[in-house]
Parts: sequence; C-alpha cells; structure tokens
Amino acid sequence: MQSQSIAGKQTLSVLVISVMLAACSPSSETTKDISLQTIAPDSLKLYVFNCGDFQFPSVRAFGIDDEETPVRTLVVPCYVIDHPDGTLLWDGGLPSAVADQAGWQTDQQSGVKTRLQKTLQEQLDSLDLGFDLASIDYAAFSHIHYDHVGVANELSGATWLVQQGDYDVVMAENSTVPAFDPALVSALKERPTKVINGDYDVFGDKSVRLISAPGHTPGHQVLYVELAEKGPLVLSGDLYHFRISRDQRRVPQFNVNRERSLAAMAKVEALVESSGADFWIQHDAALFETLTLAPGFYQ
Ligand SMILES: [Zn+2]
Repeated sequence: MQSQSIAGKQTLSVLVISVMLAACSPSSETTKDISLQTIAPDSLKLYVFNCGDFQFPSVRAFGIDDEETPVRTLVVPCYVIDHPDGTLLWDGGLPSAVADQAGWQTDQQSGVKTRLQKTLQEQLDSLDLGFDLASIDYAAFSHIHYDHVGVANELSGATWLVQQGDYDVVMAENSTVPAFDPALVSALKERPTKVINGDYDVFGDKSVRLISAPGHTPGHQVLYVELAEKGPLVLSGDLYHFRISRDQRRVPQFNVNRERSLAAMAKVEALVESSGADFWIQHDAALFETLTLAPGFYQ
C-alpha cells in the first residue's frame, strides 16, 4: 500500500508540474497535450484472452489484394479491464457455441474458417480472477459484428455501453448490416443501457475512454486505456484488420461508410500521435503472439 501511495503522489506531481509548465507556455500545442494526461489508477489492470481464431481463403473483402499480404489467419481477442470502480468487458469474441465443435469450422458459402478452443466463461472459471461473465459491470463492444459480441447474452449483470449507431441497428426490426446476427445480442435489449453519441469516459477519471470511430459499422468505436506502468494504449476494434490496412488506410468492402471510415482512422491516428499511445490491431495474430495473456495482465 505504501509504495502504491508514493507512486500515486509521483504521478500527481508530474501532472502538477506539467500543468504549471503548460500555464507558462503560450503554445496551444502544449496545452492540448496536457489535456490528455490523466492520473491512471495504480490498480487498473488489463487482461487479454483468446476468444477465437479466423482463417480467410482471400483477403480481398478487406480492401487488400491477395498478393499484398501472406496473412490469412486472424485472432479474435477479448479484454477485461479491472478498474477500482468496476469491471469492463471490451469485445466479446466469437459466439460461445463455436466451441461446441472441436477444431476449425468452415462456412460453406464464404470458405471462412472459425475456431474457439475455450469459451471465455471456461477460461474465467479456470483462472479464478475474481470476476466472471455474470459479474462483469460494463460491456462495451467495438461494434456489433458476430466476432465481437459472442458472449453478449451471457453478461447478465452488465450495463451495455453502446454508440447510437450500433444501438439503432440492434433495435431495428430488419438490419442490413453484414456480419450482424441479432440473436447474439438479443439479451442486451433487456440490460441497463447507456447510449452514447461520441466519446465517453467510462469511469469518470479519463483512464478508460470509448472513442467514437464509425464507418466499419454505424456505431464502431475504439478503446483508449491509460495504464500506470505501460502508459496509454488504444485497442483498435476493427478500425484495421491487417498491418497493411493501417499502413495504407485500406477500407474493407463491407464497411457501411467508406468516408466515415477514413475520417475515423484520421481521428484515432491523431489521438495516438498526441497521446503517445501504443496501438494494438486487435485481429493481428502476430502481435497477439507477443502479448501477455490472462492470468497475466497489463497495468
Ligand atoms: Zn472483427
């Protein structure tokens, strides 16, 4: 406890000095940077889980020629943020039912293969981290595609944090958004819900922020997390699927709005630049290989 309180004071001192320096500076650039600084709670933890894998016969649907990248396998992660004021699930992985069959399952129409080796609930049961799906306080999905809301109906105690655009899709009788399966999110309609228009500070201390980034779906968002040791981190949602998508700003053919997608990329890249945040392309399997999975965590 002693070292935590000292670390907290040091963080506070850095902030106070930074603000004083900003006050002395006529540069609006400096002032803008300062507004991004936060006091990250020392006990904030980020857990990473494998919530499935994909194999694609072609990557053309992502706006990439097959010759441009050898990558055909994507990972599907889930994340839990354990904050002193509650737990937040960020993205819900492939549908838990995918785990009913061992190994890869092939969609006959598209040739896309999916695999879920262990459901998130099974992982939480075996790891004993102090929370499970029923006790998670907040659920936020980057968007409502089926590979991001797989456990949505199992979050019986959560408040759903959702951008207006995706909320409207879920509540609509007939939706034309591709890769959206209404049955996977049906229980969310009965949950306490916070509908958001724009960016949202989840715990009120700026440490965990939903950043509106529409275009992939009408209410797509990314997550900004401020960790005491690791520093700021942005989780991409599906702003990009491949590294080349980010390098060359490629927009998938199935995004609902190309112009808004490009604007979202510009907005998030500006946030990454000004905050100095690390940036994780969530579906990047090569990156995922290097991450610390639960029960390890980032703080
Ligand atoms: Zn996805």
